[in-house]
Amino acid sequence: AIRFQDVEKRFGDNVVLKNLNFSVQPGERVTLIGPSGSGKTTILRLIMTLESLTDGFIYINGSPLTHEERNGRRTALPPREVRRKTRQIGMVFQQFNLFPNMTVAENLIEAPMHVLGMSKADALAKARGLLDKVGLADKENEHPSRLSGGQQQRVAIARALAMDPEILLLDEVTSALDPELVDDVLNVLRRLAGETDITMLIVTHEMQFAKDVSQRVMMFDNGAILEDGPPEEIFTNPRHERTAKFLSAVL
Ligand code: ATP
Repeated sequence: AIRFQDVEKRFGDNVVLKNLNFSVQPGERVTLIGPSGSGKTTILRLIMTLESLTDGFIYINGSPLTHEERNGRRTALPPREVRRKTRQIGMVFQQFNLFPNMTVAENLIEAPMHVLGMSKADALAKARGLLDKVGLADKENEHPSRLSGGQQQRVAIARALAMDPEILLLDEVTSALDPELVDDVLNVLRRLAGETDITMLIVTHEMQFAKDVSQRVMMFDNGAILEDGPPEEIFTNPRHERTAKFLSAVL
């Protein structure tokens, strides 16, 4: 479960998120939509602790992620504790972010071995299972640069799954792909959504995909939630003019 409590994020004078409150239940898959600059990516990066929140709290399974209330004061948690919590969280980026100097298999076993302390044999067995799942069993010894964007992104998904995350954050994972490669990646994620109970937060402009995999859509505007509900409702019957406009531009 994820909970944002009075979260504020500013970059200098630019208040990107203000007083943001929402919860995501375990196993829930939520798509974040909204115009460019509305703060969607920032929300994922805050959960991954790639950005630090300027005020408020984020809770993962009820326990504070980066800051807690102590003696009535907002106090930062020690980095070691923060790292321990982010282990349960995986993220896939628009730009794949694979380690270019490692093979596909090495990309997948790196964190399980060095963060979780798995043996190489166990990590490799797991990596092979995951590569099979994303349709890349024959690529384990390739370097990322030899793969298509769609294949690289499927490796990135497998790499995130290799850590057995409870929460998976997907940040516009098909935006950098040639159109003909998009479906392979989305189909892997559709299958994953049907097979696991990983909590997912998805930022995407692929509305059909959002409808297929998520139980809930949150529409953001200017760092605030404008609408929050099931995809059928928001896509077919938006309550706000702003949402309708946004949807007609992307659909
Ligand atoms: P997009 O769909 O374009 O990715 P988004 O809804 O994901 O948009 P964010 O990327 O979260 O929006 O950005 C929200 C705001 O925060 C924007 O105004 C952006 O310029 C600003 N911002 C994001 N990252 C930084 C940063 N590292 N430094 C300064 N400003 C930033």
